[in-house]
Amino acid sequence: MKILLQFPEGLKQEALVHASKLEADGDDVFISASACYGACDLALDEARAVGAKKLIHFGHAEFSEVRVAGLKIEYVPYFAELDWETAEKMLEKAAGLLREATARKVALVFPVQHLKNSRKVKEFLEARGFSVAVGKGGEHVRHAGQVLGCDGTAAYAGEAKNADAVVYFGGGKFHPTGIASGKKVLCADPHLMDAYWITQEIEKQEKRRKGALLAASQAKTFGILVSTKCGQANVAGAVLAKKLIEKKGRRAEILVANEFSPIALANFLAFGAYVNTACPRIVDDGEAYGKPIVNLADIRRLLELMV
Ligand code: SF4
Repeated sequence: MKILLQFPEGLKQEALVHASKLEADGDDVFISASACYGACDLALDEARAVGAKKLIHFGHAEFSEVRVAGLKIEYVPYFAELDWETAEKMLEKAAGLLREATARKVALVFPVQHLKNSRKVKEFLEARGFSVAVGKGGEHVRHAGQVLGCDGTAAYAGEAKNADAVVYFGGGKFHPTGIASGKKVLCADPHLMDAYWITQEIEKQEKRRKGALLAASQAKTFGILVSTKCGQANVAGAVLAKKLIEKKGRRAEILVANEFSPIALANFLAFGAYVNTACPRIVDDGEAYGKPIVNLADIRRLLELMV
């Protein structure tokens, strides 16, 4: 069978191991070399181009049900393994920071690669007297407690609602800075083996977004960004945004691309601002685009600011 393998950047170094196993079974293997940002970003074009009957997407849990005639889609999440002796020292520091902040009830969240580790983290915190809530994420989230860069709902929904603080167990700042819970957020990072509060960075990001909304409200011409990535494409949202902006007497056009970047948009000099219907984290790089970018989720706030 023709199989296309797809890996996020951090797992591309494992491509040959997986390819070898399948080739030993007699499959014809192709490997997507396109950038892969998340579970929303299935390599469907590449699968079609090579006539693959199966697409195996590594590293993420399923995002949404995608049906493509003649193509089987399989998700193979990656689960990180840890040196628990060192991780527990880091968690002791995290527990100390929570005590200082008088947070007794915490919401525990994590990216899917720490799903299995999260059970130990929960036990660790409970053994030190914390009450640990594991909330349910939004429609694209498969596991309780799991967060995506575009969905931090598990930090404040359901049983996590009344938590005093959020504990994010995972690496990097991409996921925790997406947790707009209104609560303090503590990173317990098992890759850096460090624990630290990230609340100020989240607040700064929120301020930047408010500034972008204000600046965008002054624009006369808007570009509305639509991605062709299967988990991001939102043509209906873009058409609605265009109508609403035009009702305000401004001009709007819909721009379609698989992936948006400052270079791709640099020569569209006529647009004064962008409304983004694709990955909501594009706005994190707003400054690099040189023009304000606001998310579709904020369109009502944008329209209210337009006079
Ligand atoms: S939409 Fe953006 S944040 Fe959400 S899964 Fe895709 S790449 Fe990640």
